[in-house]
Amino acid sequence: MTLDSNWFTEICTEGGSAFSLRIRAKLHEEQTPYQRIAIYDTEKFGHLMTIDGFVMLTQRDNFIYHEMLSHPVLYSHPAPRRVLIIGGGDCGTLREVLKHPEVESVVLVEIDERVTRLSEQYFPELCEANADPRARLHFGDGIQWVKDAEPGSLDVIIVDSTDPIGPAKGLFFEPFYRDCLRALDSNGLLAQQSESPLYHTESIIRPMHDEMRQAGFLDTLTLHFPQPVYPSGWWTATLAAKDSPVTFAREEACENKPFATRYYNDAIHRACAATPEFLRQALMS
Ligand code: SAM
Repeated sequence: MTLDSNWFTEICTEGGSAFSLRIRAKLHEEQTPYQRIAIYDTEKFGHLMTIDGFVMLTQRDNFIYHEMLSHPVLYSHPAPRRVLIIGGGDCGTLREVLKHPEVESVVLVEIDERVTRLSEQYFPELCEANADPRARLHFGDGIQWVKDAEPGSLDVIIVDSTDPIGPAKGLFFEPFYRDCLRALDSNGLLAQQSESPLYHTESIIRPMHDEMRQAGFLDTLTLHFPQPVYPSGWWTATLAAKDSPVTFAREEACENKPFATRYYNDAIHRACAATPEFLRQALMS
C-alpha cells in the first residue's frame, strides 16, 4: 500500500524508519524566528503539532511523555518545592508538575512564545493549569535563564526540549549542566528527555550521562517508556542527581498520590527504572 497525500510522515534518518499519521487537514503553519510550527487534525490521534517537520505531540498519546517527564523526578526528590521547566511550551509538563501539592513555584522558560499560543488554541486541555498562581511563564532562552539563576534556588529542573539541534543544542552539553548544578539546591535533581534507547543510545544517551557526570552530577539514571508517535516508539528521560544517588525517595507518597494519572503510578516508576541489558552495557563501557 502506498501513502497518498492525506498522511503526515516523519522520516527518521538515523533509524532508517518512518512514522505516518493519517490527517484530515492542516490547520495551521507558520515560520517563527526559531522554527517552523505546523498543526494538523489527524484521523485517530487528535491534533498533532510538528516543529521543523518532527512530531512534538498528539492529543492521543502525549499523556505518557508528559507524565514520565514529571512524576518520576518529582517522586525521586524528598521535598520538591521549586521547579524549572525548560522548553515544554505546549504546557503539558507544566500541568503535570502542578498536580503536586508540595510544589510551591514553577517557572516555564520556553524560547518560542508561538508554541504556547498555538497550544492554548489547539491543545487547550494541556494549558488548563496555566493560570495556577504557582506558575510563571517566561519566554526566552533556557540556557541563559539557568546561567543567570541564583545558586541553590531550585529543587528540580526538567528539560522538555526539542532534539539537540537549533536552539536546543546547548541543552545537551557540560556547560549547561554545570549551570544547572549550581542553580540546584542540595538533593537537587535534573530530568531531561533523552530520545530513543533503540536509535540514540550511542549518539545521545551515553554522551548525556558523560556530560552530566563531567559537570559534577553524582548519579545518573535513564528511565524508559513507550511513546508511540516518536521514532522507534520507545523513549527515555534521563535523571541526574546533584549530591546523592537517584532513588524512589517518596515511594509511599507515590503509592497514595492525591491526583489522577493515565500512565504513571508507583509500579510504573519501579519498572521504568530497570535498565535494559544493552543500555546497561553501553553505559558501563
Ligand atoms: N516533547 C517534545 C519532543 O521531545 O519532541 C518536545 C516538546 S516542546 C514543544 C519542546 C520545546 O523546546 C519547543 O517548544 C522549543 O521551542 C523549546 N526549546 C528549544 N530550545 C530551547 C531553549 N534553548 N530554551 C527554551 N526552550 C527551548
